[in-house]
Amino acid sequence: MLPSLRIVDYQELVVLRPPCASPALLYGAVVLSLPRPKTIRGIVVRHVIRYELTIPGHKVERGIIRTEEETRVSGPCTLAAGEHLFEWSLKIPHDTTPGECCLYGWIRHWLEAVVEGGGILGRDLVHEKRMWAEINVAPEDDAPNYQQQQMLGLLDELGPYNITLESSCLKVGGVLDFSINLPSIPQTVAIRSITLSVTETFELSSPHPTSTSKSLRLVGPKQRIVHLDGSSPRSTPTRWAHGMAITTSEPADGEFALVEKGEGFEVLYQARIPGCDALHPSTGTARGPTPISVTHEMCVEVRYVLPERGKVRNAKLCQAIRFSSCCCTPLPPYSPEPAAVDRLPLGPRYNCACLLDIQSLVGDTKDHLPSYSSSSMTPVPDFHAKLLR
Ligand SMILES: [Zn+2]
Ligand SMILES: [Zn+2]
Repeated sequence: MLPSLRIVDYQELVVLRPPCASPALLYGAVVLSLPRPKTIRGIVVRHVIRYELTIPGHKVERGIIRTEEETRVSGPCTLAAGEHLFEWSLKIPHDTTPGECCLYGWIRHWLEAVVEGGGILGRDLVHEKRMWAEINVAPEDDAPNYQQQQMLGLLDELGPYNITLESSCLKVGGVLDFSINLPSIPQTVAIRSITLSVTETFELSSPHPTSTSKSLRLVGPKQRIVHLDGSSPRSTPTRWAHGMAITTSEPADGEFALVEKGEGFEVLYQARIPGCDALHPSTGTARGPTPISVTHEMCVEVRYVLPERGKVRNAKLCQAIRFSSCCCTPLPPYSPEPAAVDRLPLGPRYNCACLLDIQSLVGDTKDHLPSYSSSSMTPVPDFHAKLLR
């Protein structure tokens, strides 16, 4: 029988919350089994990040990003035959490079335990376990991660606008409430379509640059989250298969809505954010070199016609936005009830937003849904009540 080493009882998922200053704590134990007494030089547990990077036109690069996170759980000693358990803890800074998997490669996290001199012929005994480090961009103190993003301004032809995105957690695979309010239109307009889309930008660069290595910035395709046009159902308010739109204006043929001079216009829509097969969490600013980092921009486009001029116009409003990982949903609190044991996480896909239907996601957050009727400038049926039906 040979000496063996296992990492046990550790968390598989670390939620990174940049720019949170105090690091996340990861803890567990290692079990060393010895068939006969052995003198070792020490035991170390460390956090290791591996990556694979494919910059188009270049060779695939694989490597390790060294982190400073390691802990020495034992110094030199002589151990008796049998099983020995050592507990350990590691501090993971919140600006650690998060996990990634995309067209251009991946970034994965491991825990590595090493018994120095614990193997045969005095070699090191090594054991590795996969772990996940997922980004959550929601502010920690803002329970339960309720987020709002707003665009306010004035357009010559559409007047003042107020666009809001609200979500209980703005994450990949999540649900958001989109609203666009044009409270006072200065001239009659026929609105053709309203689109909310998101675009990803990938920054690719080698963490170990050489004279031939390159870095590259690539912009992904525009992904539509909401698209409303003349083919959208007309009756108002209408509940749609994947959401809801409410407008108080009378739609005209071939248009989404006709709004007379001086009138207001509002659309509320509940939309699903694309899942992790299409969208990646926003990386944020990580410490040290990062092979793949992702940023997002959302754009709202209103296509409209001024009847006396006839030409289709496009108002485009864009803003940076950040998405949390679909896997960052906090785990349920500890319960001493035996039933809770069955629901212990089997990995970070537990509670993954992508796997839940829209009702489960909305159901979790129904107390925090906004009620639009009180604040909107046009009389809009109560969004909250409709949604909960
Ligand atoms: Zn997912
Ligand atoms: Zn997920």
